Amino acid sequence: MNRRATQVVGFLCEVIRSPTVCKNGWLIMSDGRTVLVLAPHTDDGELGCGGTIAKEVERGSEVIYVAFSSADRSLPEGYPKGTLKKELTCATKVLGVRKDHVVCYDYDVRNFHVKRQDILDEMLRLREEYGPTVVFAPSLNDLHQDHKIVAEEARRMFKRTSILGYEMPWNNISFDTLSFSVLEKRHVDQKVEALKCYESQRHRAYLNSDFINSLALARGVQVSVPYAEAFEVVRWIMP
Ligand SMILES: [Zn+2]
Repeated sequence: MNRRATQVVGFLCEVIRSPTVCKNGWLIMSDGRTVLVLAPHTDDGELGCGGTIAKEVERGSEVIYVAFSSADRSLPEGYPKGTLKKELTCATKVLGVRKDHVVCYDYDVRNFHVKRQDILDEMLRLREEYGPTVVFAPSLNDLHQDHKIVAEEARRMFKRTSILGYEMPWNNISFDTLSFSVLEKRHVDQKVEALKCYESQRHRAYLNSDFINSLALARGVQVSVPYAEAFEVVRWIMP
């Protein structure tokens, strides 16, 4: 861009003052994608695709984060009800997701199977409201009973949309690394910082920052890039 064009862009960014349109005086080139992240419980979306969320926000995609349970019953002693919802607000803010694009339902943890139809209906509303370009959901090979429900209902509801299943090695006996989202160090750092918001879950081994960095490094090595997140392809529709 020549000097005059740079000045014009800088001026426009001054006037627009939107972090999703301009960053450091530069226009963000958005391809108009809408990314829907389906998390059975708070923190699942950040763990499975936190780096990709940060990258998509940075490139101007509209990112919608939906958690189906605030998992209050899983809170350690001493933490008040609603703690995980607050931690979710903190984490998604670190990743740059707009506050009004973060939804948290109150399905009872480990009992999603009794509300399967309600969850499907919820997904129908999300499909109609946002019309996502791509949906991130747990892997169909995820062993957790709630994750399995969300993975299966997502496939049912979004069968005409691209769907990628995210990795949670502690829940996957098998996981096919079929697709990769290339990340920069800053995206992995954002993922680590976001997960630090989950103070009530810090005893979980998978929240360890060394683990998160190592997995991103390992997935990057598979495709000769510095860092990556891997996904199973549930459905892929080329525009
Ligand atoms: Zn979960």
